[in-house]
Order: sequence, then C-alpha cells, then structure tokens
Amino acid sequence: MMPGRAHVPGFVNCDETIERLYYYLDGELTEERRVEIVRHLDMCGPCVGAFGFEAELRKVIANLCKDHVPDALLDRVAHALQDERVRQGN
Ligand SMILES: [Zn+2]
Repeated sequence: MMPGRAHVPGFVNCDETIERLYYYLDGELTEERRVEIVRHLDMCGPCVGAFGFEAELRKVIANLCKDHVPDALLDRVAHALQDERVRQGN
C-alpha cells in the first residue's frame, strides 16, 4: 500500500488525471476515460485549477497558431503545469 494513494475503483489519481488532461483536451480519450476525469475534477480542487489553466492555454495557442504549435511552446506549457502542481503541493 502506498500512503496517500488510496485506490477507489474507477477513481483516477491526480497524476493520471493531469496526464490524461492532454488527451482529454485533444479529444483523444474514450468516453469512459472522459467520465473518469470529469469525476475526478468534481472532487479535486488542485486538478480543476490545472485543467482550467491548460484549457485556457490551449485556446490561446489555437488562436495564435492554427496550424502548428512550436515544440518550445509545448515545452513551456509542460513546465508551467509542473510548477502549478508543485505550488499546490501535489
Ligand atoms: Zn486531482
């Protein structure tokens, strides 16, 4: 048993949720996975913050460069998300 990582069936933990957010936003998740994430976000404040942050960023990126997102920018997004999680004590 890993402390702080209680496993409730059907409940994805924070790490998994953040990882899946990328796919969620890209529309690459199955309906089932989507539901799992949404359920997690319902109960987890820190992840809601990260999700809102990422979603906003995606919108900005989509508007700025419709065809191609530079790798450097994606890199910065990844780091920003990381920082966000550290700040929130995740
Ligand atoms: Zn969470």
